[in-house]
Amino acid sequence: MLNLEWNNRLEAWRAELKKQIYRPLGPIDLSGFVTLEQLTPQQAMRRSFKPMPPGTAWGAKWEYAWFRTQITVPKSAAGQRIIAYPVVQESVAFVNGTKAYMTGDNQPLLLTRRAKAGEKFKILIEAYAGHGPLPCRVGPVPLNRLTVPEPPPTQAVVAPATFGIWQEDVYQLWIDIQTLVGLMAKTPATLLRTAQVEEGLKDFTLIVDFEQSDEKFLASCRAARKRIAPLLACKNGSTTPVMYCFGHAHLDTAWLWPLQHSERKAARSLANQLQLVEEYPEHRFLFSQPAQYVWLMEKYPELYARVRKAVARGQVIPDGAMWVESDTNIPSGESLIRQFIHGKRFFKEQFDVDSRLFWEPDAFGYSGALPQIMQGCGVSYFSTQKIFGSDVGNGDPHPYNNYTWEGIDGSTVLAFNHMDYTSPTSTDETIIRWHWRRQRDDIQTFLFPFGWGDGGGGPERDHLEFIRRHKDLEGVPQMKLAAPVEFFRDLERAGTPNRYVGELYFQNHRGTYTSQARTKRGNRQSELALHDAELWGAIAAVTAGYSYPLARMDAVWKQTLLNQFHDIIPGSSIQRVHEEAEAAHRKIIHSANEVSHAAQRRMTKAAKGSMTVFNSLGWERTSLVELPAGFPGTIQEIDGKTYGEVTVPACGWTTIRSAAVGQWAPVTVRPNLLENDRLRVVFNKAGEITSIRDKSTGRELTAGPCNRFLMYKDVPGEWDAWNIDSMYEQQLVNSTAPARIEVITSGPLLGVLRVSRVIGQSQLTQDISLRRGSCRLDFATVMDWQERHKLLKVAFPVNVHANEAIHEIQFGHVRRPTHRSRQYDATRFEVNQQKWTALAEEGRGCALLNDCKYGVNVLGNSINLTLLRAPLAPDMLADRGQQKFTYSFFAWNSSLADSGVVREAGELNSPVTTIAGGAGQQSWFQINAPNVIIDTVKLAEDGSGDVIVRLYESMRTATRCVLTVGLPFAKASQTNMLEQQSARLAHKKGAIQLEFRPFEVKTVRLRKELRKDVRR
Ligand SMILES: [Zn+2]
Repeated sequence: MLNLEWNNRLEAWRAELKKQIYRPLGPIDLSGFVTLEQLTPQQAMRRSFKPMPPGTAWGAKWEYAWFRTQITVPKSAAGQRIIAYPVVQESVAFVNGTKAYMTGDNQPLLLTRRAKAGEKFKILIEAYAGHGPLPCRVGPVPLNRLTVPEPPPTQAVVAPATFGIWQEDVYQLWIDIQTLVGLMAKTPATLLRTAQVEEGLKDFTLIVDFEQSDEKFLASCRAARKRIAPLLACKNGSTTPVMYCFGHAHLDTAWLWPLQHSERKAARSLANQLQLVEEYPEHRFLFSQPAQYVWLMEKYPELYARVRKAVARGQVIPDGAMWVESDTNIPSGESLIRQFIHGKRFFKEQFDVDSRLFWEPDAFGYSGALPQIMQGCGVSYFSTQKIFGSDVGNGDPHPYNNYTWEGIDGSTVLAFNHMDYTSPTSTDETIIRWHWRRQRDDIQTFLFPFGWGDGGGGPERDHLEFIRRHKDLEGVPQMKLAAPVEFFRDLERAGTPNRYVGELYFQNHRGTYTSQARTKRGNRQSELALHDAELWGAIAAVTAGYSYPLARMDAVWKQTLLNQFHDIIPGSSIQRVHEEAEAAHRKIIHSANEVSHAAQRRMTKAAKGSMTVFNSLGWERTSLVELPAGFPGTIQEIDGKTYGEVTVPACGWTTIRSAAVGQWAPVTVRPNLLENDRLRVVFNKAGEITSIRDKSTGRELTAGPCNRFLMYKDVPGEWDAWNIDSMYEQQLVNSTAPARIEVITSGPLLGVLRVSRVIGQSQLTQDISLRRGSCRLDFATVMDWQERHKLLKVAFPVNVHANEAIHEIQFGHVRRPTHRSRQYDATRFEVNQQKWTALAEEGRGCALLNDCKYGVNVLGNSINLTLLRAPLAPDMLADRGQQKFTYSFFAWNSSLADSGVVREAGELNSPVTTIAGGAGQQSWFQINAPNVIIDTVKLAEDGSGDVIVRLYESMRTATRCVLTVGLPFAKASQTNMLEQQSARLAHKKGAIQLEFRPFEVKTVRLRKELRKDVRR
């Protein structure tokens, strides 16, 4: 070990050496202008530029400045490497034309590697002023403190700018020394290797002489390099780990900045990498999100053309499989499939790459449905690092780096958890990452993404210089630059003995199932609207010659997918991002509804006094519909509108001239009672339920007050919008204000009670309704939510004994503990769901259904649905204002498989729709097994006019069943989820026999009938 004296000397020499790398030649004079617009360099050049000397303040929130300057290389610098430091902000530079380069953030702008005397460089720069302070880890916030204060009107200041010579010999020596210092720090002092490295470092300080002429100083640097060269030539022995390295710039599609700013970040990151690959032909850079490639294509065509060339050379790697790195807790199963369909299609069409890697470094947990979806989409490899971020607090660490990941249906993919997505490659950091590895045995190779990230950037020269030195350097894991897929192919050959079964639950960021509720609701409604548009669009295309707007809907889907990015849909972005997401959802829903209506109109004819009711779900259902005045049948007036009951066939419609008729006992409603033929529900004065009696068995279903609102203080120690800390349960803010309870309607069809009350600072209005014949109680809720750092749950303690709760996820469900017996049970104190969570005994059960709520916890026998949060950062007004949602209580007396819970949740989410006119009665798709769900019906992605039907088994029960198709078709086949690689399916008169594994998702392709003329 070096003694203190040598250590001090080494530190002093290193520090001075670093200063000597750059020798300024002169100042840079900037002129510029400030704008909020997104300009091309050509547009910017036409604006007027004013002098902006050092000290000039500029740039309000979101603003950009365009700067220009010109540099002439003096004679004395001929032959040298010339760089400039024109601005300190994040920026992109265009040098002598429109070619883009990265600069700013202390990154030098390379002008030439070998200058000519008198050579001129015209430089144009777009620099970002910034978005002001956006803290994420705020902790407690006093009432008078703004977490997101407005930044001043001028956030940025022009700094003194220079250009000069980059002394390459000095730089190379500096990297050499850094390598040896890193090695010395991480190898045992007892090794001969360490002793020799120490000797070399001592000699370095004796050889390099800063107190000399430039020429002699440079000569001493070269001499020092020669002295230490043998130390850098020592090779590893027979056993050494191998790091498969590739550059990466984890670029959040939106987060603390809006989408529009990410577009510029993408340009900057790629400009930076394209310059690096010129100098380092061995460089490999993974750029993973097609949505970001599209930005470059549209906004930076010159840059995109260079990206294409770098892809062809293998230097930029288009892989990652999804359209964006999506959240996987909240999107529906079909959304996850579309992420892969659109992502993979882009990579194939643009680069002829079959993307086989699901690159997902930063999402907050990974659904147990993913292995099947990945395999169905031809994606066999999975990589993340986030799952190691679980260990905050009382986590139960994920055990592996390499493993086979098995999903809920038994599908498997090969997975690797790397250590982080912003790795440095310096010697000590490289060695540490190997030491940090989770798994001690059965691991020789490692996935190693490197470079700056989160807001993009990626690697710089240092990263690649270290990797050059670590190719095979005694004491350091071998680093080789390779595409990640090469790592996985080699791992596949070597095999892994580890198997991890089930979801990859993230023991952290549990608030992201709930934060920014409007964004989540918008996503659910967009998914449902798209579902209906595709179903009716496909049926109308086949039966009525409707021309489905495939290209437009393709764009609408991509908007939906974009907003499922892992900081948008989880609710962890700034206010502007969420406002833009909500606006995007409104447009998506509008476009999808337009298609549904156009298709439905196409299939109906004018018929006086007739109305057609459409059911987009795959089973026959009886629904309440609003009727035009004067319709006969058993009807009920509510708020001046007329309602009747209609039975509508599966994936079809019925035309009615009257509502159904029946002699039904009226649903009884009193301020403390809702009662039909199935349930007797008693309320207290707070609008809580004190009893739900199942009339068929006489059993009491409640085990305590149900529909009880629980408001907690919710002050996470850090990561405000992300986290619910476990101690929230100890800070119940009780609210026992009495409610106003009104009878809204009672009659033959349904009863409705309206409960209005204050909770905290917020106002709640709930219409609680019970239909005749139903075991489902709906709570249609509107809230004016005005809280800070609060968490609102609604509790349903039920009379059901179960050690596991059952939570719907995409294409199935998972079971999670209702107790906290062990660490991994306790850490799941808040979990995610899709449309329902149930507690079930073998022959009976209860569930809470929802139309847009994704967070829940079940403790003992109480299902506690998470309704709202009020985080203060990074959006200090998150979730304030009007909130709408509906949840339902549902009970059954059968096995879960026969409970109908999936159907009830489907009906809650997808009401029937009506239009005036007649179309007879029709069912286009039916299935004869209640546990098999027709999930999606759509036209084929390839524009052939074929129809795709996606189905899944929902109850973990292998099932043989028959799909009956009313549409004409020539041939049926089973395909993968990309609608390719078909296997013929036998069919007879539209009936197709299908056989499902538990939780299997099947895609059936119906070849277009060519002989039969369609009505046009
Ligand atoms: Zn991220």
